[in-house]
Amino acid sequence: ERAQQALARLVVDVSDFPQKGIVFKDITPLLADADGLAAVVSALADAGRDGGEVVVDKVVGMESRGFILGAPVAVELGTGFVPVRKAGKLPRATHTVAYDLEYGDATLEIHQDAVAPGERVLLIDDVLATGGTLAATRQLVEACGGDVVAVAMLMELTFLPGRGAVGNLPFTVLMTV
Ligand code: IMP
Repeated sequence: ERAQQALARLVVDVSDFPQKGIVFKDITPLLADADGLAAVVSALADAGRDGGEVVVDKVVGMESRGFILGAPVAVELGTGFVPVRKAGKLPRATHTVAYDLEYGDATLEIHQDAVAPGERVLLIDDVLATGGTLAATRQLVEACGGDVVAVAMLMELTFLPGRGAVGNLPFTVLMTV
């Protein structure tokens, strides 16, 4: 409720960024608002609980806004946080997946030992667009032997086919556009 109001008030539409024809959702005013930030972190963290109990072992966030949101969610849940990063940033042995984006393409990586076999993972990011980032991240967690049990994002762009990548995973989304 508080989170939904904060999103409606503080996310700014920016036309033609980063390319002509794209309407970019800028969440930086939301992040800069103390009450808004606390409200959305708390609402995302609920995705890692069932009946008040924490049911995940790790929070995984996708570069870059998934780091900003995922780390405080992990602290709130009492779990560790794992970054999924763009190619070439992680210093030790990685799993790697290449995929297409709404604009351009990308390669994502995870440290091979960042998620232990059998661990239950909550994925956190800001925006579900085509679902490519989500699908790639899920593959990376599974390559480690982990199990994605829930996904939580601030926004879903419903004019893009991202839901397909969610499949039947429990999906928490605070605002649809
Ligand atoms: P997808 O892989 O197409 O679902 O795109 C999702 C990724 O792109 C996420 O990591 C988002 O941070 C980013 N993204 C796509 N569209 C937007 C937008 O309008 N605002 C902010 N981030 C976006």
